[in-house]
Amino acid sequence: MLPKGQRKMGDAASRGLRRCAGCGMLKDKRDLIRVIRTKEGEILVDETQKKNGRGSYLCRSADCLEAAVKRRAFQRELRCSKDPDIYGQVRRIIEAGNE
Ligand SMILES: [Zn+2]
Repeated sequence: MLPKGQRKMGDAASRGLRRCAGCGMLKDKRDLIRVIRTKEGEILVDETQKKNGRGSYLCRSADCLEAAVKRRAFQRELRCSKDPDIYGQVRRIIEAGNE
């Protein structure tokens, strides 16, 4: 029997909702950018959202990116030893989406 919070999160995940690493809001994963760590240890933006790997999600928002950077959210969620060099990539996608 899982604690109530975890069961709720499971329901959210099954409805396609993911938590943003910046603001912590649950959103439809199609509205989020997926960042993954591959089994080779490479950190990249998964634009197809279909690659295998440990994933972290982020709103298409520069504010959320900043928040995730400050909280070292990717480092924590992707279990990398140092902060991944992913910000430039994510920022380009956010800026491209805002045009
Ligand atoms: Zn967010």
